[in-house]
Amino acid sequence: MLTTRSWPGETRRRLTEALQRPAAQQPGWADPGAADDVREALERLPPLVLPAEVDRLRSRLADAARGRAFVLQGGDCAETFAANTADHVGANVGALRAMARALEQDGGRPVVTLGRIAGQYAKPRSQPVDVLGLPVFRGDIVNGPEPDPAGRAADPRRMLRAYTHALAALNLIRAGHGGPGAEVFTSHEALLLDYERGLLRLAAGDGTGRGGETGGLYALSAHFLWIGERTRQLDGAHVALAALLANPVGVKIGPGTDPELAVAYAERLNPGREPGRLTFISRMGAGAVREKLPAVVERVTAAGHPVVWSCDPMHGNTREAPSGYKTRRVTDIEDEVRGFFEVHRELGTHPGGLHIELTGDAVTECLDEPGGIDDTALAGRYETHCDPRLNGDQALRLAGAVAALTRT
Ligand code: PEP
Ligand code: MN
Repeated sequence: MLTTRSWPGETRRRLTEALQRPAAQQPGWADPGAADDVREALERLPPLVLPAEVDRLRSRLADAARGRAFVLQGGDCAETFAANTADHVGANVGALRAMARALEQDGGRPVVTLGRIAGQYAKPRSQPVDVLGLPVFRGDIVNGPEPDPAGRAADPRRMLRAYTHALAALNLIRAGHGGPGAEVFTSHEALLLDYERGLLRLAAGDGTGRGGETGGLYALSAHFLWIGERTRQLDGAHVALAALLANPVGVKIGPGTDPELAVAYAERLNPGREPGRLTFISRMGAGAVREKLPAVVERVTAAGHPVVWSCDPMHGNTREAPSGYKTRRVTDIEDEVRGFFEVHRELGTHPGGLHIELTGDAVTECLDEPGGIDDTALAGRYETHCDPRLNGDQALRLAGAVAALTRT
């Protein structure tokens, strides 16, 4: 595997061209020189995952694109360094595995399990400053959540801590912590470009020429990376970087996604129309999925693009509870998933995956009425640093409902 310095000039030129484009949601580092030093240090470190694993995932995702497998992707909204304990990692992997078992046994299709884990440390934010006028918390890989000016300064050395934490979490996962069973692949939002760039490696590839003339340029911070709703500008740096990669990649698409734009993403990110390379993760909201998703699916399908269609029923259903907590209703989450299946059944396309925020810890972050967590119960164990997650029970119940839908 070649590190940056020994890459062919053409590869370096393409990467520079991609990264010179406008990049949304990047921190203003307190010390930009230090950010360069950290990136170079990351370039010399061993990668977190290997190209052969990435290739294996891509071929499993190709099965999902063809309707022969189902993708389960889940984990914390934001992983934190403090919560990166053996207990928490084990609980999250355990909850994912329990869901995967239920989906596989009752849903009748092999499940590809992808954690939002071992690198989900960077968060896009809707405002650059918080209510106190401080720079917003952008995730542990950038700054600290505590509301003090020093802690909120964007510190590039945090990228090295993130690498170390990701490595430790991966070590647990690879050792079978959380219950040995099917392979758990890793994923996170490809948001922080300095970190992702530091973990790019050029590998021989598999001889298919995938990735165009660049050969096999792999982002080895994780097996799968996705582009978020706020950074999917067609001419921006995130899409341009993803276009260079050999990894399978995802794009989150919200209710404002023009069907032609979805086709443009597919043309840009998967010109070879390879099944498994591109996943669209729709996050429309329960109230919009039946209205907005069909045109997108129809246009992409008509253009001949084989994508994995995955449903994120979390990010279009966030609301503020009367108590003030940021929450989601389990009934909305279930309803968006039902709508997603209805749309695909109607169009004859494959509902290929589920993308959720969950933890195996017994948190009280999502409203579950009647009979479960109500507004007064949210305060009991509300621990997320970003968005509300399903707890293990809620997640397993959702898996049961999704299994019933995949069977029919
Ligand atoms: C997320 O997955 O945590 C997220 C921020 O999602 P989106 O980009 O879809 O808003
Ligand atoms: Mn989130």
